[in-house]
Amino acid sequence: MPELQRISTVVAMQAQSETWRREGLCIGLVPTMGFLHEGHLSLVDYSLAHSDRTVVSIFVNPLQFGPREDLAIYPRDMERDLDLLNQRGVDAVFHPETVEFYPPNFSTFVEVQELTAGLCGVFRPGHFRGVTTVVAKLFAAVRPHLAVFGQKDYQQSAIIRQLVRDLNLDLSVEVAPTIRETDGLAMSSRNINLSDDERRRAPALYRALVMGKERIEEGRRDATAIIADMRATIERDLTTDIDYISIVDPDTLAEVAEITGPVVIALAVRLAKVRLIDNIAASPPQR
Ligand code: AMP
Repeated sequence: MPELQRISTVVAMQAQSETWRREGLCIGLVPTMGFLHEGHLSLVDYSLAHSDRTVVSIFVNPLQFGPREDLAIYPRDMERDLDLLNQRGVDAVFHPETVEFYPPNFSTFVEVQELTAGLCGVFRPGHFRGVTTVVAKLFAAVRPHLAVFGQKDYQQSAIIRQLVRDLNLDLSVEVAPTIRETDGLAMSSRNINLSDDERRRAPALYRALVMGKERIEEGRRDATAIIADMRATIERDLTTDIDYISIVDPDTLAEVAEITGPVVIALAVRLAKVRLIDNIAASPPQR
């Protein structure tokens, strides 16, 4: 198996990409912030299966963190990440330094409207602007034919699809399912910052999502009532600030009051040091 290449400058990344493109190879990109887990690796496996060369980017993007958020304690372990990616057969890791990506005179931002207004957009102002800006830069550096994102960040994946459509970017966006711990907690790099007690109780989030999904599949249509039951399930187990529990249209992300078609149930909660998000798709019974 060829060795994993480490690439840290945009120029070197673009040169490698150009070489592959001239050889007619299909390039897959998996953007990450590192501290990799099986969720990330499932996206990597998707890319390995659907392209000839896979690039994983590792970049903790300061632009997507608010001033009171967890940038300083965001977990990092580059050596372990490189080992995991090498074992998996990834071709290159792109890990620019912050100043490489955001030199002092940096002043261009990419912003998607509408889809960024609700859900996490309400509680993390500027977050999605940071995400779409860095993703546009990653696309320009790696020039992938396909890019793989996780359903775990459902709103983010919808926003990136919109970005690619609106700017006519010549690549396809793939969204892969959420990978969970055996107790249902969605895998996340941030889970390491949960206390032991929070970690034990955190599966309440998934239980609430499953309960909401079951209610919808039973034919219950009243979103407000379902959300109230989910809130009670979470509050029974977890001392937390709930940012939101929302039932939304899968495409527009607009809140749905009466459930008559497919929806996504999405939530975000704040624990002591960590904000957790999760979601699940649900559809009412066919009539
Ligand atoms: P992050 O490193 O958290 O920015 O995530 C990088 C990519 O991995 C994003 O597309 C996430 O949606 C995806 N991802 C994160 N956690 C999971 C998970 N548990 N299952 C599937 N994909 C995930």
